[in-house]
Amino acid sequence: IKILAIETSCDETAASVIQNGHEILSNVVVSQIESHKRFGGVVPEVASRHHVEAITHVIDQALKEAELEPADLTAVAVTEGPGLIGALLIGINAAKTFAFVHDLPLIPVHHIAGHIYAAQLEKPLVFPLVSLVVSGGHTELIYMKDHMSFEIIGETRDDAVGEAFDKVARVIELPYPGGPHIDKLAQAGEDTFDFPRGLMKEDTFDFSFSGLKSAVINKLHNYSQKGIEINKSDVAASFQASVTDVLTAKTFAALKEYDVKNLIIAGGVAGNSELRRRFTAMCEEHKVNLQIPELKFCTDNAAMIGAAAYHLYEKKHLADLRLNGRNFIDIEEYAF
Ligand code: ATP
Ligand code: MG
Ligand code: FE
Repeated sequence: IKILAIETSCDETAASVIQNGHEILSNVVVSQIESHKRFGGVVPEVASRHHVEAITHVIDQALKEAELEPADLTAVAVTEGPGLIGALLIGINAAKTFAFVHDLPLIPVHHIAGHIYAAQLEKPLVFPLVSLVVSGGHTELIYMKDHMSFEIIGETRDDAVGEAFDKVARVIELPYPGGPHIDKLAQAGEDTFDFPRGLMKEDTFDFSFSGLKSAVINKLHNYSQKGIEINKSDVAASFQASVTDVLTAKTFAALKEYDVKNLIIAGGVAGNSELRRRFTAMCEEHKVNLQIPELKFCTDNAAMIGAAAYHLYEKKHLADLRLNGRNFIDIEEYAF
């Protein structure tokens, strides 16, 4: 089974050919980061325009790298949502057109299911599992008893972790997207500020990061008012320590409560080196089988969409040419 997968939910135009849900025949990602940097974030209309320019080239390149003709494909998969509606529609219209012209089945994929299934590019998933999704727009603990079965057991009540990384990066004057820059800066710093650990002691699997963000901003204000220069590496390390403490505490509490020994960490923030280090050590200690995708499959890509699409194809979850983009889709609706 060879699936051409397309992903355009945010600021990456991506296409990939995935065989049998895990063999990567090609993986093309064109990032728009350079273009959005000057605005300090993704501008939706600008994103859509870049997708329009790039999409046909990206699809051609994915087929070329895979050394395949459209006739060799089994199906076309595309991110249906969640994401920026204008951006999603570019990928969806490209996928629908491709499917119509080449008479191929069309598979709609949930973007966050894609992030989780990035783990499958390395190893098959083992159930039951808990997935910690930490991306630019989502922070969720998801319980999966089988393929394409999602139960949200906890989620953020305000900011997503990636969003918190990007906002904190902005106030300490790092370029967009700030996550990787904070990661790097933190390596030279220490957890000296003791920022709050949102909801860590509360009996809930939900998260809250807006208090942490405010605490960082207040600290910066205090220092600048007193005319003292703040150690930005320490700010980055302290911020990251707070985030990692909360994420590990909640995740291990969920693993215990649900009696689960398999953990997947998914989404852009799963690329964070401190988070990877802490989870790796704790999973070893607690004998939990940990899967974190390779760095380039943590952030947005189409290979992960092709990996998830394989199971949707098996379950005959297909769309017709009426498929539309949806800026929000509850992943629990995607349980098949
Ligand atoms: P969503 O998947 O929720 O729709 P998105 O697609 O924009 O949102 P991703 O591509 O999964 O999000 O991840 C991007 C986020 O990951 C950004 O917020 C970015 O700062 C963050 N990120 C990337 N690398 C790192 C890192 N090394 N450390 C911390 N954060 C990181
Ligand atoms: Mg992105
Ligand atoms: Fe994403």
